Amino acid sequence: MTPLDIAIAGCGPAGLACALLLHRGGHRVTMFERFDAPRPIGSGLMIQPTGLAVLDRLGLADVVIRYGARIDRLIGKAGRPERTVLDVGYAALGAQASFGIGIHRASLFGALYDAVMATDVSIVTGRTIVGSMLDGHRRRLQFDDGDHSHAFDLVVDTLGTRTPLAPPTGRALAYGALWASLDWPTAAGFDLSVLEQRYYRASRMVGVLPIGTPPNGTGPQAAFFWSLRADHLEAWRAGGIDKWKADVLALWPACAPLLDQIVDPDQLVFAQYAHRTLRHPAEPALIHLGDAWHSASPQLGQGANMALLDAWALAKGLAEQTDLPKALARTVALRRRHVRTYQTLTALFTPVYQSDSRLLPFIRDQLVGPLSKRWPASWIQAAMVSGLIGNPLQPLALTIPPP
Ligand SMILES: Cc1cc2nc3c(=O)[nH]c(=O)nc-3n(C[C@H](O)[C@H](O)[C@H](O)COP(=O)(O)OP(=O)(O)OC[C@H]3O[C@@H](n4cnc5c(N)ncnc54)[C@H](O)[C@@H]3O)c2cc1C
Repeated sequence: MTPLDIAIAGCGPAGLACALLLHRGGHRVTMFERFDAPRPIGSGLMIQPTGLAVLDRLGLADVVIRYGARIDRLIGKAGRPERTVLDVGYAALGAQASFGIGIHRASLFGALYDAVMATDVSIVTGRTIVGSMLDGHRRRLQFDDGDHSHAFDLVVDTLGTRTPLAPPTGRALAYGALWASLDWPTAAGFDLSVLEQRYYRASRMVGVLPIGTPPNGTGPQAAFFWSLRADHLEAWRAGGIDKWKADVLALWPACAPLLDQIVDPDQLVFAQYAHRTLRHPAEPALIHLGDAWHSASPQLGQGANMALLDAWALAKGLAEQTDLPKALARTVALRRRHVRTYQTLTALFTPVYQSDSRLLPFIRDQLVGPLSKRWPASWIQAAMVSGLIGNPLQPLALTIPPP
């Protein structure tokens, strides 16, 4: 395709990866971001082998591995005495994909942002996008001050789950979680290569994810999270921090050195989740990628990884076709099956870990937990967490970098 004039709306993982790949494809790229200085929001996340395959092709796998923490297992325990009800080891997949990466959002953002800044991609900051409009075959972005951009050949919407560029769809979930990045509790018996969780039914969950040492950090950190219903947030605040700490310690006493670092409720950020998938992610001169196309609870830890795969698919679609509508259709075709699979899996699994149900966690603890340690359940779980169900890398001609 002849070089296009492309606007990328949003400087999250999807937007930054798109900028790098489309710039590399010879297109003229301009990014737009609401913040005066683009920055990540939130604590940590998991990069799966799928996301690492894209980061590798961007030349960023090494830096992400260096600043992140290699995760070998996911372990969940429930009950008194504690029983293991979730045990997922990446090693069950063999050499193909033997680890995930727990990473501070600032580290992932920094790796992508620094790479964009080293190109001649321009980033227009302090611009809040409120909509877009067609201008012939091209499209303009509209801003909150009434102004609009020039007309671009293509607008890539990576504005996240609340994008104003797509029609509203989906539903907010009842449960979200409080998150904080804390210093790694060295002597508390946590394992630096394990994402660990404790559950009481599906209504209480506490988790500790190693997220490595961010570029300006002084030592390893943990993402600490506590599941909470969105409509209980005010009651949580009113209840006071000491009562909440007692609740956490009752579920997982080893968290004491993490809780000691929290003295103010404002150290915790509440994230509410939504499940939404656009039926038509491609429109004339516009494509929605990442959370703007599909968002879900982070139960399976896939969102940022799927955003990276979407970015790769767009670059591939544009490289393979000479006509823009066909290239956008090809992009969607490359990703649709994987997106559907994971949106469905996440919708099925989320209530098992975050809901008011008593039946689902009972089945989880009594039946699924013990069974899951045996093959082929161990392999299926590892493939699911790695993002590899449905073989998404094959149509994208991507491979997982060797360990
Ligand atoms: C608590 C939590 C934990 C998670 N854990 C994981 C995990 O372990 N693994 C994983 O893969 N995923 C995880 N996710 C999901 C992951 O964060 C998202 O899927 C990913 O960030 C999506 O990237 P994106 O670039 O599509 O959107 P975003 O990251 O939402 O980026 C959107 C960008 O657009 C900008 N923007 C938004 N609106 C406007 C506007 N109107 N005008 C201008 N700019 C705007 C924003 O400032 C931002 O820079 C988690 C999510 C949450 C909330």
